[in-house]
Amino acid sequence: MKDFAVARRRMVREQLQAAGLDDSRVLKAMAEVPRHLFVPRALHHRAHQPSALPIGFGQTISKPFTVGLMTSLLELQGHEHVLEVGTGSGYQGAILARLAGDVVSVERIAPLADRARTTLEELGYDNIRVHAHDGTCGLADDAPFDAIMVTACAPHLPPHLVSQLSDGGYLMIPVNKGREQILYRYQRQGVEVIIEQSVSCRFVPLLDGVSTESIDDIGPAVAAGSDGSAGECSEGEQLA
Ligand code: SAH
Repeated sequence: MKDFAVARRRMVREQLQAAGLDDSRVLKAMAEVPRHLFVPRALHHRAHQPSALPIGFGQTISKPFTVGLMTSLLELQGHEHVLEVGTGSGYQGAILARLAGDVVSVERIAPLADRARTTLEELGYDNIRVHAHDGTCGLADDAPFDAIMVTACAPHLPPHLVSQLSDGGYLMIPVNKGREQILYRYQRQGVEVIIEQSVSCRFVPLLDGVSTESIDDIGPAVAAGSDGSAGECSEGEQLA
């Protein structure tokens, strides 16, 4: 059997540290969380490659560097209440759960949410909740959040997410800029929002609404795209 712990340490050394990431808490979490268990069994041997990998429903688990970069930029200390939009495999959620107080993660494709929840439960994470929910609107009932991470690319900054940030809190989100996707870090400072631009990146799109796909639909493409606007958000929605 392949020694995945060795593969993880190598991933951290060659893909994170070599690229300048030096947050020791993030590096430790990524050296310890078993990334291969978040990808389909047939891809276990590729789990530590420097690339995104398919997880079904046309979605991907982000590449290790992206997870490391986005997590480092949130500057988590250990006590934070965190929202993740785009659970996908649950891997990024597991890293956040290792580094924050508690995490709420929302995913618009219900079978992905179910699978991620099961994986996280089996690994013993008890400070992360996964919901099948459209995260464009954030999660009003659980707000405010000390940090928010969006792992799908938005057409523009969803206003509800900014309004659900605590004062001083960071929001990491990839946003379309012409043909490019740029990773932004927003910080709420009172009524002001400080915007910092990070790197060019590549994410799957942030789409509106909860998908009606079933477990039989594994294959390319999710439901038709939309403009990702948050106009239909209502307070206090029921969660799956
Ligand atoms: N963080 C994930 C990567 C997920 S890819 C991981 O570690 O594996 C992005 C995910 O965002 C996809 O699963 C996609 O279905 C989901 N997504 C896209 N739009 C969404 C929305 N409006 N609300 C919630 N999830 C969304």
